[in-house]
Amino acid sequence: MKISAIDTFLMSAAPPETGGWAARNWLFVRVSTDEGLTGIGEASGWPRVVQTAIQDLTPILIGEDPRHIERLWQKMLCAIMGHGMTGVVGAGAMTGIEMALWDLKGKALGVPVWDLLGGKVRDRIRLYAHAHNAVRARELVDRGYDAIKTGGVAACVESVAAIRAEIGNGVDLMVDLHGPPWLTPRDAIAVGRALEPYGLLFFEDPVAPENLEALARVAAGVDIPIAAGERHATLWGVRELLERDIVDVVQPDTGRAGGLWQMKKIAAMAEAHHVMMAPHDGSLGPVAEMAAVHVLATVPNFLILEHLADDVPQRYEVMTNQPEISDGYLDVPDRPGLGVDIVEEVIAQYPSRGNITAPDPTHDYSYVMPRSGRGRWLRGDARSEGSWRAGQVF
Ligand SMILES: [Mg+2]
Repeated sequence: MKISAIDTFLMSAAPPETGGWAARNWLFVRVSTDEGLTGIGEASGWPRVVQTAIQDLTPILIGEDPRHIERLWQKMLCAIMGHGMTGVVGAGAMTGIEMALWDLKGKALGVPVWDLLGGKVRDRIRLYAHAHNAVRARELVDRGYDAIKTGGVAACVESVAAIRAEIGNGVDLMVDLHGPPWLTPRDAIAVGRALEPYGLLFFEDPVAPENLEALARVAAGVDIPIAAGERHATLWGVRELLERDIVDVVQPDTGRAGGLWQMKKIAAMAEAHHVMMAPHDGSLGPVAEMAAVHVLATVPNFLILEHLADDVPQRYEVMTNQPEISDGYLDVPDRPGLGVDIVEEVIAQYPSRGNITAPDPTHDYSYVMPRSGRGRWLRGDARSEGSWRAGQVF
């Protein structure tokens, strides 16, 4: 069996209205063989750019035996490293192709991908959903979710207090601070300490991801498990986070971490440090989520998977065999490969509307900034000045 073609499918994953996600896209990949068998994957990380990277990688894979996944991954890595592209763009391209190779191998052998990755340690994957206020948190808990994440810097402590009061202590609660503007380490520590009484499962991305020293400082100064890693790729990208015991929870993105085998390697490295894995899923489409489910079924140190409850309509149209979710858990499927396929007619109905969202012109474009009016915002008074707001899409 030989690889005969690699095709990419870019589509808009934006909501019908404009806003911060108007430039959100999904990129699907299909690897075809001379024997008529195909595999599908999904890549994230800046989808249109990743699409071009996949097209550049295609000639070195045509004619190769698709079963030798590690060999082909190393071939791709050697090919792109000269461009300095081992971050999320290069790893995103390798991810989409590598994921499709696992799907293909599973179909060829008639077994699910989880069977190829070591077999299951669980039959269901625990999910968490997002709530920006107590009303939404209550709605999700009533639907069976027992873990909720909230986010953003503005009124963070006030919001966490309201959600905790609504859902009680029996539901896990997480906070993702994220930016821009990102907090300074000192401000992130102050927020973290104010959040300590609320018994959080984890405190995610309290500072910008480019500065491990800043994250290490926050981790040392706050008594809440620290989570990070969604913008890092490959096992080398997360190596310091783990080797230096900076994080308690590692969050690789199944669409851009480098592939399913990289996810397994990252999980193993984390396991050696008693660190749990809770993959990022926020911007991903349904195929990458299903790939995450296959990996996480096999990972002993899996904690929980991010899930977009009530995503855009096209999510539920573009993939066959939609996941079975009940009481906040997703059933691990038994079909060969990833057990799903893409629907090309639906992709054609949602052409990409853009690739970049500029910040609103009223924003001062500060990436990291100390919070003024500290006495107010730390106590919980809502202040959104300086927060990132979506502007024009290009
Ligand atoms: Mg996040």
